[in-house]
Amino acid sequence: SRRRLDSRSGISAGLLTEIQTSITTEPLESVYEITGELGRGKFAVVKRCVEKATGKVFAAKFLRKRRRGRDCRAEVIHEMAVLEMSRNNARVVNLHTAYETDHDIVLLLEYAAGGEIFDHCVSEELLPEGVHHLHQSNLVHLDLKPQNILLTSLSPPGDIKIVDFGLARRLGAVGELREILGTPEYVAPEILNYEPITTATDLWSVGVIAYMLVTGESPFVGDDKQETYLNVSQVNVDYSREAFSRVSELAVDFIRKLLVKAPEDRPSAAECMSHPWLWQPQLCLSPEPTATRIIRERSCGIKWAAPPEDTE
Ligand code: ADP
Ligand code: MG
Repeated sequence: SRRRLDSRSGISAGLLTEIQTSITTEPLESVYEITGELGRGKFAVVKRCVEKATGKVFAAKFLRKRRRGRDCRAEVIHEMAVLEMSRNNARVVNLHTAYETDHDIVLLLEYAAGGEIFDHCVSEELLPEGVHHLHQSNLVHLDLKPQNILLTSLSPPGDIKIVDFGLARRLGAVGELREILGTPEYVAPEILNYEPITTATDLWSVGVIAYMLVTGESPFVGDDKQETYLNVSQVNVDYSREAFSRVSELAVDFIRKLLVKAPEDRPSAAECMSHPWLWQPQLCLSPEPTATRIIRERSCGIKWAAPPEDTE
């Protein structure tokens, strides 16, 4: 029978259990004022909230303790533990404190005011840096995608913050990791093939994100999940199409090196960081079709989005 990608079986193996952050049971609302919603996923909703005493803004991630009728508190504790392990990683969102309600554990996270990286120019070298740092701690994120990479501010574009460590795992803790995880468009071929997961799995995602940043398109997305999975497992990428016409050779080289089927043939995050594409100063253009707005110019290491198509 077909294995389903969203199968949660075996997922609890290798979860981290030790946390330092205390989980408060007093009402969150007595300390924070909730001022809006920032995003949501399958089992979580993230709300903007302001600490009443200080006016400081945080992102409160409400994680359901029960999911599909199952107690998932251990998964939430694991997510907290991964965030704690990444505390010294400047590219990972900081965990401030946590609350517990009847239904949720609420993580009070550093607020990334710039939102998701997508319609914005972002420096691509910051992502390999953050991923390198994670990998040095033996952590793999396993769900790197535009929605999980945020900007600290928009103008000027700030630093990036990696969020959402729900699928992250520590390597080596429980032998080989062969879990079925991730989001169809961003999932690596080894995950589809139920082959071992390594740090190289995250590098596939870095390649997908780089592709999306320069073309504005998702490289593998098909009309349905099955078509997407087929595109991924065949590494069906079209580098010749129109979308690539204004993309530099170096950017194509960077992406080509990452989007390869064999995980061991992909560069490491550290190797990515020294790729010449990331060290090439160019103009950074916003992707809006008419307003070709220069967002930022820097002398080194920036990803420059392709200029917008002039459509009439
Ligand atoms: P899920 O596990 O449900 O995908 P995420 O942690 O990815 O939850 O959060 C969902 C969305 O909420 C993100 O894609 C992002 O848009 C927003 N978000 C999450 N964390 C923050 C944050 N620290 N600051 C601002 N927005 C955030
Ligand atoms: Mg997410």
